[in-house]
Amino acid sequence: MVSKIIGCRLLKQLQVIIQFIMKKISIQGIQYDEKSSYQKGPKLAPAIIREALNCGSMNMFSENLSSIENAMIDDKGDFEISEYFDIEKLTENHLNSNTKIFTLGGDHSITFPIIKAHHKKYSKLDILHIDAHSDLYDDYEGDKYSHACPFARIMENKLAVRLVQVGIRTLNAHQAEQADKFNVEIHQMKDLDLTKIPKFKNPLYISLDMDGFDPAFAPGVSHHEPGGLTSRQVINLIQNIDAEIIGADIVEYNPNRDIQNMTAFLAAKMMKEIISKMM
Ligand code: MN
Ligand code: MN
Repeated sequence: MVSKIIGCRLLKQLQVIIQFIMKKISIQGIQYDEKSSYQKGPKLAPAIIREALNCGSMNMFSENLSSIENAMIDDKGDFEISEYFDIEKLTENHLNSNTKIFTLGGDHSITFPIIKAHHKKYSKLDILHIDAHSDLYDDYEGDKYSHACPFARIMENKLAVRLVQVGIRTLNAHQAEQADKFNVEIHQMKDLDLTKIPKFKNPLYISLDMDGFDPAFAPGVSHHEPGGLTSRQVINLIQNIDAEIIGADIVEYNPNRDIQNMTAFLAAKMMKEIISKMM
């Protein structure tokens, strides 16, 4: 009897230790689109993507057979943000010692405060940024924190060792200059070869702007930019990563522009694929 009780206690302690060692993933939704320059709507995205995920249309497995219905995943819910830098505080609160964070945005401005929070934990960070736009403006319409600027802020604050951008098809002279200044590695659509995407050595953060996809695959974005990535290309790109992914976001889904929620379903699928790579 006594040995049975001791055995039970040991088993419980072991479970606690295993849960502690296992890296947990927290999901946070950021309802924020104040820094969108052209159209509002991404604030509504987290709820609609969750709805697509949970409506019964798809199962919870990624293509590599891990389910996101998993004890390792802790869904913190969606947060309505009024002050921009509250995003940094919120992320920092969720970023405990053994937690990785997956964020549903929100417009792309949210990535700067999120990376700021991550930098306190990871001094060396690589970023894979998938987008039609390089988001490197020094300022946009007078706003340094516009959704057109987050990667300029990240690089000038030295928050990333390496920034690799894929899907870009909107460079202008200013942004090309900024890319040179910050040593950004840009894989433009016009000469894209996915076999040339480098291997990452440092902990990796993935930032997926839904307008990186061609609008034929993802019409629910504020800025339709033809000539983009296919769903399959982005899924393969994610699946072929062999670095440790320590955080990720999906941003710029604009439900107001969507057709039959098809972009929400793509975002939900990408959420499964990215989270399963984080596990
Ligand atoms: Mn962007
Ligand atoms: Mn974009």
